[in-house]
Amino acid sequence: MRLRNIPRADGVIDAHRTVIKKPEEQKGNWNHVFGNEKPIQIEIGMGKGQFILNMAKAHPEINFIGIERYSSVLLRALEKYDTEEFETLENIRFICMDAREIENVFALSEVDKIFLNFSDPWPKARHAKRRLTSTEFLARYEKVLVESGKVEFKTDNTELFNFSLEQVKEAGWALIAYTYDLHHQEEMNEGNIMTEYEQKFSEKGNPINKLIAQRK
Ligand code: SAM
Repeated sequence: MRLRNIPRADGVIDAHRTVIKKPEEQKGNWNHVFGNEKPIQIEIGMGKGQFILNMAKAHPEINFIGIERYSSVLLRALEKYDTEEFETLENIRFICMDAREIENVFALSEVDKIFLNFSDPWPKARHAKRRLTSTEFLARYEKVLVESGKVEFKTDNTELFNFSLEQVKEAGWALIAYTYDLHHQEEMNEGNIMTEYEQKFSEKGNPINKLIAQRK
């Protein structure tokens, strides 16, 4: 994703009611942040927020948290939230952080599901540990997910997808379902909400891969 430094991003983020500024202070307390006991699902690397905002709109029975590393990108999601379509949503919050810190922000069993969409591929082998589906990250997810907690991962990058299938196995997680062509796999595609990247790459004709894995 091309990044521009947007000077006003930090000001907008600080003032926005949906952004949790010191997320580590809410560890073990996320139900109180939302004021209810609904399950919490998070998207790591949400980009401009199209997926998670539409998920929050479609699923009022679930609380959503969008995590994004860059303030200039989070700003775009907040601008989308501030439109007529999404501004009344009460079941969504945002955090600006690196997902490597996830264990400091959520306690064990606080997260029901993790969505990873079109995660950065980090193609060099020496950067494999940075991939959000590496065994290193799966171990971090195990420390925050509920016992039956799942990761759902979509990408058009077949190399990253095959790597992820292997990592799921290596980590001892259960592979619940997978497809190399989500949009033509009726069962897995039901209720699918497209991300910005998914829309862009499927319009170019790239098939979309998806896996669902359950923690050990
Ligand atoms: N999920 C969106 C989509 O499918 O349209 C955006 C995909 S974009 C390729 C990946 C996003 O993940 C970028 O916005 C990037 O800043 C974010 N990201 C990558 N690594 C991250 C990390 N460790 N923690 C938080 N965000 C991360």
